[in-house]
Amino acid sequence: MRLGIISALAEEQHGLIEALESPYKLVHGMREYTGGKLWEIDAVCVLSRIGKVAAAMTASILVEKFGVTHIVFTGVAGSGDKNVKVGDIVVAEELVQHDFDASPLFPQFEIPLTGLSRFATDTALTERLAAAAAQTTRVHRGMIASGDQFIGKLAQIQALKAALPDLLAVEMEGAAVAQVCFELGIPFAVIRTISDNANDDAAVDFMHFIKTVASRYAFDVIERFCREHVGSV
Ligand code: SAH
Repeated sequence: MRLGIISALAEEQHGLIEALESPYKLVHGMREYTGGKLWEIDAVCVLSRIGKVAAAMTASILVEKFGVTHIVFTGVAGSGDKNVKVGDIVVAEELVQHDFDASPLFPQFEIPLTGLSRFATDTALTERLAAAAAQTTRVHRGMIASGDQFIGKLAQIQALKAALPDLLAVEMEGAAVAQVCFELGIPFAVIRTISDNANDDAAVDFMHFIKTVASRYAFDVIERFCREHVGSV
């Protein structure tokens, strides 16, 4: 296994780079890729930057240039359900691009020529991440939607929830990584700590949260995931 770990923001990657043993760095396409051993797992960590194109580019480069065999995305997200609270973790089982709409040529949300509107995560990786996360906080599993918008208005999140009733969280990268991994045949998983309620208070909650809690959660979960994964690969 060579594990690619993508985060969107520097705070989300906090600690992982320092934890890499025998690190090496390579700058490519305006991103810094840092490889090395992460608790005995061969890993490459990178910041994708924000949004679907940025995330798709980063995932593709991880696979094609760095030869990663598995990808995990760690980050924060807005809540998409009343039972999903700030500080909870959502582990994706499926991802949707909520701003994709080629109707009437294709059904809303369907990605042309794949026949899919939802991309499933790898079951084994998802299982292990959820188990690791459950030792840190409350964990939900289900659908996450991504789009090139920070959802920070109550009307926006309500409209999304009406269109996608099983929505658990909203963010800006996961579904893009999902499509790339689907097309390249790479097992992947997405884990998101809830930073805000994707409503009118979202921007303030978000800034506070990523500085205080999100970085620690991501680090703890990845550490546990790697330590428990070593025996199985
Ligand atoms: N002000 C920040 C912008 C971050 S954008 C900055 O300057 O760095 C929000 C990031 O967190 C994205 O990577 C997205 O995936 C995630 N996210 C958290 N809450 C979100 C929400 N309510 N809507 C969309 N994305 C959200």
